[in-house]
Amino acid sequence: MKTLPKRIAVNGGGYIAVEFAHIFAGFGAEVTLGCRSGLVLRGFDPDLREEVQAGLGKHGIAVHHGVPEATRTTDGIEFRIGDHRQQVDLAMAAIGRDPVTPGLGLVEAGVQLDAAGAITVDEWSRSNVDHIFAVGDVTGRVALTPVAIREGHAVADTLFGNRPTPIHHHLIPTAVFSQPAAACIGMSEPMARDKGHDLVVFRARFRPMRYTLSGRDENVLIKVIVDKATDKVLGLHMVGPDAPEIVQAAAIAITMGATKADLDRTFALHPTTGEELVLLR
Ligand SMILES: Cc1cc2nc3c(=O)[nH]c(=O)nc-3n(C[C@H](O)[C@H](O)[C@H](O)COP(=O)(O)OP(=O)(O)OC[C@H]3O[C@@H](n4cnc5c(N)ncnc54)[C@H](O)[C@@H]3O)c2cc1C
Repeated sequence: MKTLPKRIAVNGGGYIAVEFAHIFAGFGAEVTLGCRSGLVLRGFDPDLREEVQAGLGKHGIAVHHGVPEATRTTDGIEFRIGDHRQQVDLAMAAIGRDPVTPGLGLVEAGVQLDAAGAITVDEWSRSNVDHIFAVGDVTGRVALTPVAIREGHAVADTLFGNRPTPIHHHLIPTAVFSQPAAACIGMSEPMARDKGHDLVVFRARFRPMRYTLSGRDENVLIKVIVDKATDKVLGLHMVGPDAPEIVQAAAIAITMGATKADLDRTFALHPTTGEELVLLR
């Protein structure tokens, strides 16, 4: 785009929609986000979703719920969602991506695809045809850059490095670069309950000291989900400045099987935002 559209509608409630809404609003556009469910970021922990949605509002982004439609008119685009109608200059769809597998000869080679056209693979990234492997988004597993890279490494190690390396897609840290940013690793509270865990949930909402001193309205949410029987940390969810950095570091401990007692016996590094992680009681 050579010029910045003044009024932009973003259709979608996933992380790409949320991030682009913030980017456009940051450039000064008037932004509307149309999202099907009541809260953005379906699949994330409900507390994190609420906090990110509140952040959208604080940045002047109007969020409407329902099934959005956009129609080109003589003077722009009409964006409709529920009872809400609005003229915009640009409508962006961020409602997911499908693999572009037709035309590659996969069907002719006998490679099995799923309903969305993704290549079905096993834990070795091997398709149903023995000598055909696939990694990354095209396999419809977890569509993230470090996951694609790790899958590729694992295949190379297995085939050429004499190190058989299967891939398991659990405990993948992930972030949403909203304002404030959000990040998490492990299970959300509903997911952990659905899996039958008896939980202890620790939650803190606070304003980090540096923002107390400067008077900035920046809050942090930290939520730690613990399995009552084993004391293992099942999930860490965070919203606030530096959340992705903190979650990436904490991901090492959680991947190693950290318990709540391990967090508790870790000394706090004061004054930081991350210290709250070891001070939750
Ligand atoms: C807007 C957006 C933001 C994102 N943000 C993040 C993020 O913050 N963090 C994160 O981890 N992930 C993010 N992702 C996801 C990430 O980009 C993907 O998961 C990652 O790029 C997957 O890597 P890949 O190699 O499988 O596929 P791709 O990176 O899509 O690479 C596939 C390549 O194959 C090429 N290609 C396609 N068809 C053919 C063909 N027939 N012949 C030859 N070449 C072909 C394409 O041109 C492309 O270069 C984001 C994605 C989007 C769309």
